[in-house]
Amino acid sequence: MQAKYFPLTTILHANYKTDCSWAWKGLQKKLPFIKANSRWRVGSGTKIKIWLDVWILGMTEPPTPRQDAVHSENYIWVLELIIQEDNQWNSILVQQLFDPETASLILQMRLPTTTEDKLICNPTRNGIFSLKSRYINSSCPFCNQHMEETMHVLFTCPFSRAVWMIIPGGSGILAGVHSNIATVFESWMNAVRQKSRSESWLKLAMTVSWSIWNEKCEVQFQKKKANPVEVARKAMSFASYLDGLYKKQRDRVVARLPKTNTLHWKPHVSPFYVINCDASYDKNTKLTGIALVLRDFAGNWWGCSIKCYAGVKVSEHAECLAFSEAVKWSKALQHTHVVLETDLQ
Ligand SMILES: [Zn+2]
Repeated sequence: MQAKYFPLTTILHANYKTDCSWAWKGLQKKLPFIKANSRWRVGSGTKIKIWLDVWILGMTEPPTPRQDAVHSENYIWVLELIIQEDNQWNSILVQQLFDPETASLILQMRLPTTTEDKLICNPTRNGIFSLKSRYINSSCPFCNQHMEETMHVLFTCPFSRAVWMIIPGGSGILAGVHSNIATVFESWMNAVRQKSRSESWLKLAMTVSWSIWNEKCEVQFQKKKANPVEVARKAMSFASYLDGLYKKQRDRVVARLPKTNTLHWKPHVSPFYVINCDASYDKNTKLTGIALVLRDFAGNWWGCSIKCYAGVKVSEHAECLAFSEAVKWSKALQHTHVVLETDLQ
């Protein structure tokens, strides 16, 4: 199950930052072996994370930023350390980010002209082991040509464009999509708030986005063959199903809504952050959506995270997925005081 939901790269990355408290026991046994016996060979630098991967010749650990480096966290991919035009290390940046010893190791590494990044296995006494390429591939699973980025996967990939073009009004939606995903979703919500778009339109746009993402996961992890017509058809029927469901539920909720007794959420005391997590599960479609919200002790909103899964068998499983995502997120945030709130029973 773990391999299906969390690609190995993510786990490798997640584990470098934390100590040995990773929850998945089965993988825990294998990870040190993989980490100790592999490193990246730098090609274009698009797949290698600067601070999380082993990629510097002469080092067996991911590098750490030099103490006085500013904004080192803004640099994520090795690609960002390379001057593309003349295919050379950006030596000024490298010297700013790393201590002199590490910087000199990096600057000694020769950059090949057209090779892809490769996770290579160091020879071991036990012989050779190999990692399946699908676990280390971070390019878009639809086109295999671009980096797997949300905006690309949802809107600019030839595959997703094909899906949107089948959807009524889809080309208009595509034309209005710019910058980043948060801005896109915000503009959609605003359009509904200002009544220039209907709620059904929003539901369709969100469902299509979700369906494309879901297809991406199935292509990536279950080796499914991507089919734009099928994705568009399913998205449209799911959107109209949701629309009907929502209308029915709204009538029912309005009828039952108590007049008093409003629920109020209270933040925890300083310095605690709270992650609220919940899952919704549809037993007919076996689809699960999970959502996490992070707020601080003053009740300020710090972010949210959503995910969807197909093929979940029972609602308890859905709740557990939400909880495990919350645990994972809280570790990634590296806050020391995080409270997880759930309605798990
Ligand atoms: Zn693509």
